Amino acid sequence: MNKEKYDVIIAGAGPSGLAASLTLSAYGISHCIIDANEAAVPKPGDALPPTSKPLFKQLGILGLLESKKHIPYYGNKSIWGTNIAHQKEFIENKHGHGYLLDRLHFENQLRELVQEKQTPFYKKHQIKRITQNEDQLEISMFHNSTKPQLQASYIIDATGRKASICRHLGIVKEEMDQQMTCTFWHESAHKIERQIWIEATENGWWYLSPSSDNKVNVMFFTLKELIPKKSKMPAFLKKELYKTQEIRLIIKPTDKELSDHKIMPSGTSYLKKPYGKNWLAVGDAAFSYDPISSYGITSAIASGYYGAHAIASQLHNEKDAFLSYHYIITNGANSYVQKLTHQYAMEQRWPDSYYWKNRLVKQE
Ligand SMILES: Cc1cc2nc3c(=O)[nH]c(=O)nc-3n(C[C@H](O)[C@H](O)[C@H](O)COP(=O)(O)OP(=O)(O)OC[C@H]3O[C@@H](n4cnc5c(N)ncnc54)[C@H](O)[C@@H]3O)c2cc1C
Repeated sequence: MNKEKYDVIIAGAGPSGLAASLTLSAYGISHCIIDANEAAVPKPGDALPPTSKPLFKQLGILGLLESKKHIPYYGNKSIWGTNIAHQKEFIENKHGHGYLLDRLHFENQLRELVQEKQTPFYKKHQIKRITQNEDQLEISMFHNSTKPQLQASYIIDATGRKASICRHLGIVKEEMDQQMTCTFWHESAHKIERQIWIEATENGWWYLSPSSDNKVNVMFFTLKELIPKKSKMPAFLKKELYKTQEIRLIIKPTDKELSDHKIMPSGTSYLKKPYGKNWLAVGDAAFSYDPISSYGITSAIASGYYGAHAIASQLHNEKDAFLSYHYIITNGANSYVQKLTHQYAMEQRWPDSYYWKNRLVKQE
């Protein structure tokens, strides 16, 4: 069978995989992208803090944020650790305002940039097997009723939180906690200020952000053990929402909106070592952040960028390139864990709550 050959295969076309592809293209390194889905899929998470702008500039993608679908936002309002609302304005930030992304549009914008570079893109392909032959990897896939095969020197795992490629290689991520998110959209009758609301309650915390079309993205973060069965979820969310001071005054979700919720993991998980002889993990596959940090998208793009640099260096026989990449990931992760621990320790109002008692990040 004819096998297409590349220097690098990128598995996963989220922000990290696409950033890696743009970086490899800049080096002129032959590569392809494989994604399990036919098209970009809607994802939760829209907040891009102002501090992400230098990275976007470096990658040449800052202009994407000018689309009217992404809306500037000017700060956060939080009720956390005290009953008094705290306002943080970005006016003090040297990078200016942040953005609330139209996530689907953003990922389609990145995909268009990658496709402009004529990068081969295997959509709706499932990876079946990865085998190591001397210095080459052989990748067998499923696509409809066919079984295409590829060959490459390196594979990048950019498959997100599940780190599917690492699983194929028998490597499992460590989990720091079991936080889950219940998310739904609310159609607002009136315009909502361009800021993010965060409010801690007894069993978790709420997140609320406006989108460009009077819709509001609402999320409730709690622990797996506190989530009831599906039929009881709308009543649970209503009850938890009623415990907020401000958010319940901003939104009045309908029963349908509450029933249309989605639940997904949102805790911290990481690979002890995000690389091996001929693979490297980027984005959520390497390190998944708690969304309270707003680090996810920025860090996914940064690690895609640095990961691709590491592979380019490795292809030029720079032996320590993966080690340097590991160092960059570890540095970011250490600073995140410190900030996260501090953030959760600030909330002491419910000492007997299961959520808050189990919230302090466990470190080795
Ligand atoms: C509830 C929640 C709220 C969040 N809020 C924010 C926020 O406000 N701000 C922020 O910055 N971050 C936020 N995040 C985090 C952010 O969404 C992620 O960090 C980011 O999407 C990671 O990008 P990625 O490219 O690593 O992975 P993903 O975006 O998950 O992309 C993975 C890609 O891999 C593909 N794939 C999966 N498995 C395979 C496979 N086996 N083979 C081939 N392809 C595969 C998928 O189709 C997908 O295209 C949030 C996350 C959650 C869960």
